[in-house]
Amino acid sequence: MTILFYFSILIDVKRKLWYNKNMNYDELVQTAIKMTERSYAPYSHFHVGAALLDKNGHIWTGCNVENAAYGPSNCAERTAVFKAVSEGAREFEAIAIVGGPEAADGTVTIQDFCPPCGVCRQVLSEFCTRDFKIVLANGNGEQKVFTLAQLLPESFSLK
Ligand SMILES: [Zn+2]
Repeated sequence: MTILFYFSILIDVKRKLWYNKNMNYDELVQTAIKMTERSYAPYSHFHVGAALLDKNGHIWTGCNVENAAYGPSNCAERTAVFKAVSEGAREFEAIAIVGGPEAADGTVTIQDFCPPCGVCRQVLSEFCTRDFKIVLANGNGEQKVFTLAQLLPESFSLK
């Protein structure tokens, strides 16, 4: 039992180091792409998926959830952040975000990069450090990686 405990810690640490060293966000991007299938977007027909990596190596997922009144709609990124925070996670490494329009047959095609909206950038700044990574991927499999500081310079804070 004790050996298993230490082994699981070792796996977590190795996974974390692997992400930090190699900056390989493929798993995170693939998880975000998968989440576009869960998107509830009957109004915009634009499906977004997000995958948020916390400091312990856990991936929290999110998709956009729209509403008939439009205003109460929630973005994929904030869905992921709120799920994570409500379950106790507070420190994060990176988020992958992808999005694309819905075809006539209901499938989603990732085309261009899908950067986070201003509201999501502000929500991320509440929990993430300035070097937190925001990973975007397009339909050609290309990735762009930004820090939060790059996408939200001079952000609002009470600190
Ligand atoms: Zn947003």
